[in-house]
Amino acid sequence: MILRLDKLQIELPRPDSPDANAAAAVQELLGGKYGEMSTLNNYMFQSFNFRQKKKFRPFYELIASITAEEFGHVELVSNTINLMITGTTFPGDPNIAPMENAKDKRNSYHFIQTAQTSLPGDSMGRPWTGDNVFNSGNLVLDLLHNFFLECGARTHKMRVYEMTDHPVAREMIGYLLVRGGVHVLAYAKAIEIMTGVDMKKMLPIPDLDNRKFDTARKFEAQGKHRKLYTFSPEDYKQISQIWKGEHPDGGTLEVIQGAPRGAPIPDFEEVPEEFAPGVSEEDFQEIAKRLQRSAGL
Ligand code: MN
Ligand code: MN
Repeated sequence: MILRLDKLQIELPRPDSPDANAAAAVQELLGGKYGEMSTLNNYMFQSFNFRQKKKFRPFYELIASITAEEFGHVELVSNTINLMITGTTFPGDPNIAPMENAKDKRNSYHFIQTAQTSLPGDSMGRPWTGDNVFNSGNLVLDLLHNFFLECGARTHKMRVYEMTDHPVAREMIGYLLVRGGVHVLAYAKAIEIMTGVDMKKMLPIPDLDNRKFDTARKFEAQGKHRKLYTFSPEDYKQISQIWKGEHPDGGTLEVIQGAPRGAPIPDFEEVPEEFAPGVSEEDFQEIAKRLQRSAGL
């Protein structure tokens, strides 16, 4: 099971202005074939369906703990999209078309299906699908797939980074490039222990250098590229049998028991023109009274 924390993995800035079309591109990193919903669900099903957990304990624990981190990535990209769309339209009498600005945005679902929030779909609006999950049950094949998936995810992140300089998108991508680099290396190390093959020598990919990306550097300065979290108060200690030794930068790899400290989850104001959340001040006062009564106040 998963223990949930009401935190985002990093703090996202409050933007001065929205960019709904850039948010549509960021959807690829959420619900695209190589998006966070895919990494989450791949590792989730691989961990549920893992055979011989006792025998291959460190590999099971690696996949299980990275699953939990990916949940937080889905949450982070969703919040990024929400912060990027907020402010595209303005409140007003429905007859003056207060949502006219939304008409020419790339993803009209952001304005019609949701109230200017994220969708479980890609940058072209296609819904995320379970077809994106690969879980063969063959451990080496699944690990090789995960290595490939992380490399693909990294490529897509670098491209979306180049498509927009919106500060929220940049902050999120900078962090996820660093964390994705950790996962690439973790799966490469797992494959090396299983097979003896050094992925870094076998293939010219991936280039895990994040120095070109302005918003990634501070996370590396904090050493986040060398840390793997268990995302559990007590379990998954055996990932240290895989995540150990030297990072390619010469630093020491470190397993952190638990989760990153995290930052506050953004809150979003009402959007009256979307009828969201659609509760009047009067109704809210009534609800507050009922809550107080039921609490015995
Ligand atoms: Mn991720
Ligand atoms: Mn990952």
